[in-house]
Amino acid sequence: MNVPFLDLKAASAEVADEVADVWQTIVEDSNFILGHQVEMFEKEFAAYCDCRHAIGVASGLDALKLILRAMDIGAGDEVVTVANSFIATALAVSSVGAQPVLVDMDDTDFLIDVQLLEAAITPRTKAIIPVHLYGQSAAMDPIMAVARQHGLKVIEDAAQAHGALYNGRKCGSLGDAAAFSFYPGKNLGAFGDGGAVTTNDDALAEKLLSLRNYGSPRRYHHELLGENSRLDTVQAAVLSAKLKHLDRWNAGRRRVVEQYAAGLSGVGDLRLPRSDDPAGHVHHLYVIRSARRDGLKAHLESQGIGCIIHYPIPIHLQEAYAFMDWKEGDFPAAEQAAKEILSLPIFPTMTEEQVGGVVDAVRAFFD
Ligand SMILES: *Cc1c(COP(=O)(O)O)cnc(C)c1O
Repeated sequence: MNVPFLDLKAASAEVADEVADVWQTIVEDSNFILGHQVEMFEKEFAAYCDCRHAIGVASGLDALKLILRAMDIGAGDEVVTVANSFIATALAVSSVGAQPVLVDMDDTDFLIDVQLLEAAITPRTKAIIPVHLYGQSAAMDPIMAVARQHGLKVIEDAAQAHGALYNGRKCGSLGDAAAFSFYPGKNLGAFGDGGAVTTNDDALAEKLLSLRNYGSPRRYHHELLGENSRLDTVQAAVLSAKLKHLDRWNAGRRRVVEQYAAGLSGVGDLRLPRSDDPAGHVHHLYVIRSARRDGLKAHLESQGIGCIIHYPIPIHLQEAYAFMDWKEGDFPAAEQAAKEILSLPIFPTMTEEQVGGVVDAVRAFFD
């Protein structure tokens, strides 16, 4: 049975009519940059995240970068984050001239190991970026406690966690600010690139509105050395249409995960993803572990089943960071995970037959 890793077509079809209607309006208005659809989506997304502000930007990377800039974090500063994230998390820090300081992941849940946080903090540390990896919130209470004790900002990387909860509270509302990505494959994805910052800090929000638009709160009056990083009007309209479906889509992912868990527990040497707070997990990815990962991946692909490794190389071993004095062995949990992890297909409209087909193919490999 052919099962794609990700099938966006069904979700796109669900909003196609609504998007066609707004498209008509957008063409008639021809107000293509920061049209009122952007402001509408910002209001809706802020409300969804239980935040006072959402600021639309061009991508998730820009969201992280602009938050750092708005917090005046740059050359000479250090920002602590985790070794096993997508490279954007560290790149944002590097791009503002600051230094990413990595800590290892917790071997049980792929999230930043809070026990290691304290040791990574120096007098130059300005912020911590916990990543809600694979759709699960990092341990925000202990992270906030450490941050407050050292006077640090906390920036959530929520690019994989639209709708995720931590002790019943929405990811995106837990730190000083949060970065979301609307890359098409994310739980809430546009028809192109997009991103947003959420925050309850009024002054920070105002600064971000200016920074994303040439540092210009008023046309041709430039107070800051800003950038061009606006959420596109068309993408905002798509996101408004899709936001209405997000909770149902996340529930669809949960259904897939339950079927995987039932079908795969006790199979071979598999370690299935575990969560202390299953109701808060939005399962952007379903990541299993096996010492026989490479063989399993080849087997699944030969059966027409899409699977991907998120991520095959931890940040500290990426070629782009060869100039840092990071080396193999620095973050053993992340390195070991990179050798064993495999992301199985997961998307909200995945059918019971499709999940069953993946389960059968995995079991066949270990039999
Ligand atoms: C996708 C992603 C980003 C970057 O988002 P873009 O919109 O692709 O720039 C940042 N962090 C994490 C954890 C991501 O998964």
